[in-house]
Amino acid sequence: MSAAQAAWPGFGAKLLSRIKIADETMAFRFERPSGWDFQAGQFVDITLLRPPEPDAKGNVRGFSIASAPYEKTIMVACRMRDSAFKQALASMPLHSEVRMEGPFGSLAMPAAWNWVREGATRIDFAVK
Ligand SMILES: Cc1cc2nc3c(=O)[nH]c(=O)nc-3n(C[C@H](O)[C@H](O)[C@H](O)COP(=O)(O)OP(=O)(O)OC[C@H]3O[C@@H](n4cnc5c(N)ncnc54)[C@H](O)[C@@H]3O)c2cc1C
Repeated sequence: MSAAQAAWPGFGAKLLSRIKIADETMAFRFERPSGWDFQAGQFVDITLLRPPEPDAKGNVRGFSIASAPYEKTIMVACRMRDSAFKQALASMPLHSEVRMEGPFGSLAMPAAWNWVREGATRIDFAVK
């Protein structure tokens, strides 16, 4: 976990890596503050702090958390479109900071579905 301290529900998180995982689809890894926990199935709102261009729909988008709760970073994945938001996410320098809020959502998996969690972990390994 990063040195950043979680101040729920919002915190600053630096972009650590950005990789292509499928056609027009990218995964982004961000710092995860110490003490910030979530359940598989929850999502975060990401706000761009200094976007190069204004986006008609604003600077905030919701993203499902694609990393596992035990991982040290927060990963989200998205289809890349030509919106100002997505283009800024695609081009912002590594270590730039965004604001994250969350975790939100109650679409978490029951404990009895551990086999699904294990499957998700294997997918996660595949995109690292
Ligand atoms: C709880 C929650 C979780 C979410 N999780 C994810 C996630 O994990 N990954 C993810 O990618 N998104 C996720 N979203 C959606 C995300 O917040 C954005 O709305 C979405 O990614 C579109 O953002 P955008 O900037 O590309 O398009 P916007 O500018 O927000 O446009 C909105 C819609 O217009 C259409 N659109 C925009 N550009 C184009 C284009 N070039 N061609 C065709 N249609 C277009 C699309 O239907 C798009 O959804 C989530 C939303 C919520 C509420």
